[in-house]
Formats: sequence, C-alpha cells, structure tokens
Amino acid sequence: MTALLELRSVTQRFGGFTALDDVSCSIEAGSISSLIGPNGAGKTTLFNVISGLVMPSAGSLGFNGTDYTGRRPDEIVRLGIARNFQQVRLFPALSVIENVMVGAHLRLPRTGLLDFMGGPFNADRVDRLARSIATEMLDLVEFKSAGDTHPQQLTLVDQRRIEIARALASDPRLLLLDEPAAGMNPSESNQLGAIIRKIRDLGRTVLLVEHNMRLVMAISDHVSVLSAGKVIATGTPSSVQADPAVIAAYLGN
Ligand code: ADP
Repeated sequence: MTALLELRSVTQRFGGFTALDDVSCSIEAGSISSLIGPNGAGKTTLFNVISGLVMPSAGSLGFNGTDYTGRRPDEIVRLGIARNFQQVRLFPALSVIENVMVGAHLRLPRTGLLDFMGGPFNADRVDRLARSIATEMLDLVEFKSAGDTHPQQLTLVDQRRIEIARALASDPRLLLLDEPAAGMNPSESNQLGAIIRKIRDLGRTVLLVEHNMRLVMAISDHVSVLSAGKVIATGTPSSVQADPAVIAAYLGN
C-alpha cells in the first residue's frame, strides 16, 4: 500500500476543548476513503487541518512523502490537495465558468508584463487554457446548464457540482469532499457516486466526509470512523458497519 496522505498523532485543541485527539491515519493513493462519525466527532476539523485552514496543536502531516505541517492553504493546493466546503463557497460576482477557471489558474503559470508582450505564456493563451480546463471539469461533474450562468441562479446541487469542478481544475492528487451529497435526492446521490468513481478512475485519490451511509458504503474502498476526536475503527465498509464500537458510537449520539 502506498500512503498519499499521512496524519501522525494529530491533536487539535480549541481553548480547553480537544476536537482531535492523537489521530493517526493514512490514505492510500488511488482510493476512495470515507471519514464518518457522529455530529461533533471532528470530521470537518480534520479536513481543516489537512487543507491548512487550521494548524494542528500537535502532530504532523505528510503528503506524497513530504512533511507539510504548517504550510499555508494556497501552498497546500499547489502541493496537490483541493477541497470543497460543506457550506458552498462560490464567488457570486463570477459566472460558473469563471468560478471554475479560478481553480485552473492555480496550476497555470502566472502572467507578467513580459508575457503580455507575447511571451510563451501570454495572458490570452493562459486564459484560453483555463477556460478549456474549466469546460472539461464541468463536463466531468455533469453540469448541464450554461457556463455563463451565475451561481446564485442555480440549485444547491448544481452549486456543489461547480465547487467540485473548481477543486478538480487545480489538478489535485487528493480531493477532499465535505458532505457533497447534502441536500441531494437518491437519484442525485447515485449520480454523484458515479462521478466520484470516475474521478478515482482518472487516477485521483478521494477523501470523503459524508452522512449519506448508502453512498459511503457503495463507493468507499476504506472507511475510518471518528468519535469524540478519536479514530475508533478503520476498515472496509462491511467490517466497519459490523464493528460493535462503531454501532455504540452512533447509538450514543
Ligand atoms: P463534525 O464535522 O464531525 O460534525 P467538527 O469538526 O465540526 O465535527 O467539530 C468538532 C468539535 O469541535 C465540535 O464540538 C465543535 O463545536 C468544535 N469546534 C470546531 N471548530 C471549532 C472552533 N473553531 N472553536 C471551538 N470549537 C470548535
């Protein structure tokens, strides 16, 4: 097994409260892994630590063999880790395609004054490239409306798709998805499951936080269970479902 992401004894304290308590786990390259657990278990906090929005109080983070503890969120995106948010965060003043192009620009060369004068990466060329990456990613997430629509005119489900497309446009090796199926009906979540598999089959690694157990059990290669800030089980979907500690954690919620 090749670990793409490794968390070593990660602890996160907020004042006197311990939200993550000595969490160690690794995510295998090329897998779909899910993190489940009752409300307040620490799942979003763990995503925030992995993506650099909060600095762990203790412990270290490794990605592709590099210790990246303490790096800034934008540096972490360039390392190859991208995410969506539970509360969708799109730019309301930008169209759908422009929102996704923001992700693409993170992987493209920056343009400077010389480039405007006709260098190999002139602004127009970079913009065209960003637009073509964005179009490809919107196709991948099966977004069917026009790219010049503004996000606030769309359903929450479509806004979630755009956020996933924007994350993918930065060409991440690891995609973190925080409750992507929230607000979806069964047919929409089946479609999302197929999209997540497609993303994995294209060679990316996916880490999912999700309450929709039907989706988690259907698509995950590995499942880890957090409860009160600790990992209490890790395994295949069926082994985790049958684990008495997991059942007790959910019943106690
Ligand atoms: P989950 O995503 O599993 O529902 P969270 O990671 O959102 O859990 O929260 C875990 C715990 O940490 C909760 O008790 C929450 O109130 C607390 N928490 C999260 N962020 C902060 C913060 N910035 N300050 C204080 N407490 C926080």
